[in-house]
Amino acid sequence: MVKKKIKKQGKNWKKFWKLGVDEFNTQFLGVSKDNELIATEGHHIYNLHDLAQKYETPLQVIFPFVLEDRLKDLMGYFQAYIKIYGYKGKFFYHYPMKVNQNKEFVLPLISEGANLEVTSANELWLVKKLWEGEKFNSKIRVLCNGPKTDQYLDLIEELRAKGMTIIPIIEGPEEIERISKYKGDVGVRVDLNIKVDTHWDKKFDRFGLSEKDILDLPKMKNLKILHYHLGSQIKTQKSILEGVKHAFSVYTELQKTHSSIDTLDIGGGFGIAHEKKKKFYTAKVVSSKIIKLLKNLSDKAGIKHPNLAIEWGWYIVDPAQITIYKVISKKYIDKANAKAWYIIDGSFMNDLKDTWAVHQKWHVIPVNNMASSLKRVWLAGSSCDSDDKYTAGGDYILLPKLNGEDQYIAILDTGAYQDALSSHHCLLSLPAKIIAHDGAIKIIRKHETAENVGKLFGWNGDPK
Ligand SMILES: *Cc1c(COP(=O)(O)O)cnc(C)c1O
Repeated sequence: MVKKKIKKQGKNWKKFWKLGVDEFNTQFLGVSKDNELIATEGHHIYNLHDLAQKYETPLQVIFPFVLEDRLKDLMGYFQAYIKIYGYKGKFFYHYPMKVNQNKEFVLPLISEGANLEVTSANELWLVKKLWEGEKFNSKIRVLCNGPKTDQYLDLIEELRAKGMTIIPIIEGPEEIERISKYKGDVGVRVDLNIKVDTHWDKKFDRFGLSEKDILDLPKMKNLKILHYHLGSQIKTQKSILEGVKHAFSVYTELQKTHSSIDTLDIGGGFGIAHEKKKKFYTAKVVSSKIIKLLKNLSDKAGIKHPNLAIEWGWYIVDPAQITIYKVISKKYIDKANAKAWYIIDGSFMNDLKDTWAVHQKWHVIPVNNMASSLKRVWLAGSSCDSDDKYTAGGDYILLPKLNGEDQYIAILDTGAYQDALSSHHCLLSLPAKIIAHDGAIKIIRKHETAENVGKLFGWNGDPK
């Protein structure tokens, strides 16, 4: 069956590896004449095989232009539909920093017009650093989610006093008293009483206030935002729209007691297609449907169109990074969907934690020998852990047969979450990190040495 598919595709390897396709977020990727993976930024071309050889693996390659293009397109869709439908509310994009806090991700997004959403005092501290470095316009709005420690609340108040627009979102009942005295705008998070189809099918949520508690909130003159977040990688557009619709009913109820409320923040959760089989919903269509839905609902309810805030993180940043490994060993497998293990010079458990945590599916392709005959394989990491593997859910991955040359593989769409979740099991080094921008390469993180890693565990030179 596989053979037939390869034959049918003929020599169109770009198509075979699902590159250059908008729907799969691989518009910028292609295959060179030498059958190597390339990325194109305007007139600049990066050869990923050359980069892997030069900078050595494991290697993360970040493409800031991908972030910029994605955000520009997304904001463009919402702004266009707001005009088309005559929607009166304003639109705000907030980048949820937890999805990738690296400076190389945050700064390009800010310069494209992103506001921010933070989850902890430490993330907010980065905002303070940006502001002190004058990389940050005070007009940018920062939403503060997550449980508020005193340290977190102090920092929120400190930054507001400096003139920044910092909006704490009430997460639990014990925050109400202090946040209701806050001098700026505030929001509240509701735990919507609906179940949607997300990557994590959680029965119980512990975030925000219940719908009932929201409606029992004491009077707060500065309450502006109703926020919810349904989870990551929502599987269908129906679920996204159901969330909006349900939240809108809470919004109208809340507005009866809190007339100051003017913004609905629908959180994150917009997914992208990792499995290159099924059709996936698109931002263009969903943005249109959200605006249309909100317009119809508010017109029907006879209320002002709410301002709309979104916090889609994964969708924006995931395709902006690729992780490259080298195959360092091969082992035969008897009687399985795959014929061999390919062991890589990095770790799924350390570098791509979601493989292990949520059984994430990845788009895996070769970096060189992209037109060679193929083998069904499973991938294994270099740690000693039997869970350090990727089998595409017990299926198989098609990769070139090894021919004596170094074989490199690329895992696409690794820009979201993986970096902050990464770890040092077996004291393996983290991947090095480079950034490809305007035709030039900059090293952001070198390969960790044994000494670097040892230090993290208290081995500071003095063995006593
Ligand atoms: C994690 C999170 C997001 C981002 O979710 P994605 O699935 O990456 O879009 C947005 N808002 C809140 C409150 C979050 O916790």
